[in-house]
Amino acid sequence: MNQTNLKGLDLPELQSFIESIGESRFRAQQIFRWMYGRGVSSFDEMNNLSKELRTRLKEVARIGNLKCVTQRQSQKDQSTKFLFELEDGRKIESVLMSEDGRNTLCVSTQVGCAIDCKFCATGMMGLQRNLTAGEIIDQLIMAQALSGTTVSNVVCMGMGEPFHNYDNVIKACHLMSDALGPNLSKKHLVVSTSGLIPKIIQFADEGQKFRLAISLNATTDEVRSRLMPLNKKWPIKELLRASKYYTQTSEEMVTFEYVLMDGINDSIEDAERLKKLAQGIFCKINLIPYNATEGEFRRPVEARIVRFYERLASLRAPVTIRWSKGDDIEAGCGQLAIKSV
Ligand code: SAH
Ligand code: SF4
Repeated sequence: MNQTNLKGLDLPELQSFIESIGESRFRAQQIFRWMYGRGVSSFDEMNNLSKELRTRLKEVARIGNLKCVTQRQSQKDQSTKFLFELEDGRKIESVLMSEDGRNTLCVSTQVGCAIDCKFCATGMMGLQRNLTAGEIIDQLIMAQALSGTTVSNVVCMGMGEPFHNYDNVIKACHLMSDALGPNLSKKHLVVSTSGLIPKIIQFADEGQKFRLAISLNATTDEVRSRLMPLNKKWPIKELLRASKYYTQTSEEMVTFEYVLMDGINDSIEDAERLKKLAQGIFCKINLIPYNATEGEFRRPVEARIVRFYERLASLRAPVTIRWSKGDDIEAGCGQLAIKSV
């Protein structure tokens, strides 16, 4: 018999399922709590369900699980990279970073990515497939179980373009912030996009309360189109217009991510242009020194990074430099790629 995978179902879906097997609706909430709140994946452990119901569930349903293949701990900082195997044998990575009492998990949303940014290892893999909502939230459940810690923040900045898999990502974010589940604050959940404008508008119109980050990465269309081919379809001016629409509709701040690459987008002129672009938008700027991948790009020397940062000082928006964690285990931004598929 074909067993229904319950992992990834939201409460109304679980309720319909439970009713479809002739059980009372309220059981769905109990299963929801066990599965997402407690991270339990066997019906036998659900001790507030009757023995008969557990037996019945085992016949008709299952709770899918990622399999952790390897777990690598950085020697330099508090970060761990997990390699998970999906049920179809494909693999994804997640990175857990601990700092100042915060445990941030960077989750993947796709196997590979179709956007083809020239500086990103995931982009070089191409897209294999979307992750289901269950596979996205399971990275959180597994990382907590394997590390024995409670994750406080989740960023959708691992492999994949979240807005290319919009419905599953938003569903997973709702599950992760559900009070009966992991109960993460919506403000501690960040979705990062390379700039799919229609989805930014949709995110704003739906009033989603998760945080939004946009990978800007260049200050001219010429450079951005070279680095991120999607810029030819959705150029900077339109991207900024959509960003402004989002901040005005949601009254939330947007974060612009800017990967600094030596001699490509890190000049004084770039800093000045970036100031102009960001002016008038309720935003924060996150500078990410480039992490090594197989491409032709290089990280600027520290003095150049600091020079760029200082040039932005007169902006009203806050500016931070994100020194990636775990670069000794290739766990930094843009370094996630499965080499042995
Ligand atoms: N696809 C989404 C989210 C995943 S990438 C996006 O592009 O926003 C997360 C961040 O890592 C993005 O800001 C991206 O620009 C950045 N990034 C990609 N490759 C990088 C690299 N080699 N070094 C540093 N940051 C990188
Ligand atoms: Fe995809 Fe983001 Fe990498 Fe671009 S930077 S290829 S959108 S994962």
